[in-house]
Amino acid sequence: MDVKDKHPVEELTNDPAVVDEVKRIVRIAPLEKLLNIARAHSLWPFGFGLACCAIEGLMAANMPRFDLARFGYEVMRGSPRQADVMLVAGTVTHKAAPFVVRLYEQMSEPKWVIAMGSCAISGGPFVDSYHVVPGVDKLIPVDAYIPGCPPRPEAVIEAWLMIKKKILDPKVVSKVRG
Ligand code: SF4
Repeated sequence: MDVKDKHPVEELTNDPAVVDEVKRIVRIAPLEKLLNIARAHSLWPFGFGLACCAIEGLMAANMPRFDLARFGYEVMRGSPRQADVMLVAGTVTHKAAPFVVRLYEQMSEPKWVIAMGSCAISGGPFVDSYHVVPGVDKLIPVDAYIPGCPPRPEAVIEAWLMIKKKILDPKVVSKVRG
């Protein structure tokens, strides 16, 4: 057997009964993997409601009918320092842009961003307006996009689940249907 395949208990004892029992009840995983499992099931959102999307989809997803709490993502934080997901819900104006960037920078790593609604994705119906940023990804990196004007609460929940998948498997590219 290759040394790296050895279970750590085999370095402590040669007693096969003990080795078998420990192997049966103890699972070994890299610490990062365990941390990611914990992260993926207890994300803390930084609610960033900028316009109608916040009321139509974000708040609705948190209410009892759709019950985002089932997944462990309902602890909405008022401070970026206590959050790990920024959910940008609504129109981002050029005036608000520096604050979006500053608040994103104040979140500690690892962190993720969800762009919710046509406005946050591309400027939406206001894309030609002089004061609207044509997508929050022009300012900060975005991990999941939720199309719609506004998106359905179910799509918001699906975006959370895509972020969960992305944390558990960083090769996943998030893409959420509207
Ligand atoms: S995408 Fe539609 S619902 Fe959402 S903020 Fe823009 S205009 Fe409002």
